[in-house]
Amino acid sequence: MALSGLDIYKHLPKTNCRECGFPTCLAFAMALAKRQTTLDKCPYITPQAKNILDSASQPPVRLIAIGEGEDILEIGNETVMFRHEEKFFHPCGIGFLIEDNEPEAKIIEKIKTINSLQFERVGQLIKVNLIAVRQTGDAAAFASLVKRIAEQTKLGMVLISNDAQALKQAAAVIAKRRPLIYAAGKDNLTEIAAIAKESQAALVVTSDNLEELSQLTAKVNEAGVCDQVLEVKSKTLSGNIWALTQIRRLALKRNQRSLGFPAMVIVDEKDTYQEINKAATFICKYASIVIIKSVEAWKVLPLLTLRQNIYTDPQRPLQVEPKLYPVGNVSEKSPVLITTNFSLTYYTVLSEVESSKVPSYIISVDTEGMSVLTAWAAEKFTPDKIVESINKNNLREKVSHNQLVIPGYVAVMSGDLEDKSGCKILVGPKEAAGIPSFLKNLERNGKIQSQILSSQ
Ligand code: SF4
Repeated sequence: MALSGLDIYKHLPKTNCRECGFPTCLAFAMALAKRQTTLDKCPYITPQAKNILDSASQPPVRLIAIGEGEDILEIGNETVMFRHEEKFFHPCGIGFLIEDNEPEAKIIEKIKTINSLQFERVGQLIKVNLIAVRQTGDAAAFASLVKRIAEQTKLGMVLISNDAQALKQAAAVIAKRRPLIYAAGKDNLTEIAAIAKESQAALVVTSDNLEELSQLTAKVNEAGVCDQVLEVKSKTLSGNIWALTQIRRLALKRNQRSLGFPAMVIVDEKDTYQEINKAATFICKYASIVIIKSVEAWKVLPLLTLRQNIYTDPQRPLQVEPKLYPVGNVSEKSPVLITTNFSLTYYTVLSEVESSKVPSYIISVDTEGMSVLTAWAAEKFTPDKIVESINKNNLREKVSHNQLVIPGYVAVMSGDLEDKSGCKILVGPKEAAGIPSFLKNLERNGKIQSQILSSQ
């Protein structure tokens, strides 16, 4: 188990000399416990204390990298069972299975589709990570296919085979891409570990039970392969969830080094809805890689969205910069919509304003990333804050009318806001979906009038 700040403090010199950059040894210990600094910043640690703290400061789940360049996938290094305890750090990699017996044209089409699976959501680019190629036939043909696929994608690659020779040849042709090799089990451990060691690739270690898996990882480690990914093969969904949960729990709570690696699942499911349901479950608990067969965007987007939500910091809502955003070809007569700077709220409003085709301004008020009703209840979305935001963004220099549109859910603040801003307040729809028709009505009825905003 990771040491607490106080546990670490017991081993420090306690002279408060500040050479580590912290005002006291206790502050340094606390930062070390949160992995915000490193042990080498203190020059006065005794070798004995260093030994103890060094091993305790190793991440309980090893960080593994697959691939290269911008598309490198880093998994592991997680520190908590539940995201509300801190956060999950390295998002689960989502990959796709391609078999070498599929027609070449179909494979090329799949790769094109997989490469295009990236979307912008709440200001972030969310995309897929891996292509897994499974061998069913000739070793040389497999290596050749792996080479061709590698030329068509920058994504990380997983090489799947029971044939050591096939894995060796394929790993050699894309050695620079740092593929993930699948898999070493009790019958082929020595051979496959040697291939992973030679190509400096991470290796999947597989078993149908945790006890054996724990023994196998220790042997793979002795064989010189430290970067491992775990797989427990179970025939049932509950069996898989149980294994993934136990692996995470034993690594974090019992400091079981032999299970201190990220885990993966290949979802082998014919029913397409079940496939996505299972993949979603594994993203939540606790797979670091999920491989599926389906490549259609409508199936993949929900998984990417789910992953994005699971791996955000629960203590820090996603926020946009609080400011005045012009949408479309705005003029001094364009309507002004007020909302909060919670990303999801802002981007939902933005997309509805865009779809209305009515050029408009959006002011995102700094509500510390809270949504409309939450911010209103917490007194972060108040008439005073809105007026402050209007003034800060020099709205009066941008528009010649004096009307503001506020979200329907905070209609209650209309009177107060009208008094404080000197503007006429229009209550917009409660749901963002109503914005297009609201703006079109506004435009049609000429409600945005050319009145100069009174100065405040
Ligand atoms: Fe304490 Fe070491 Fe930091 Fe000095 S450098 S304050 S001894 S932790």
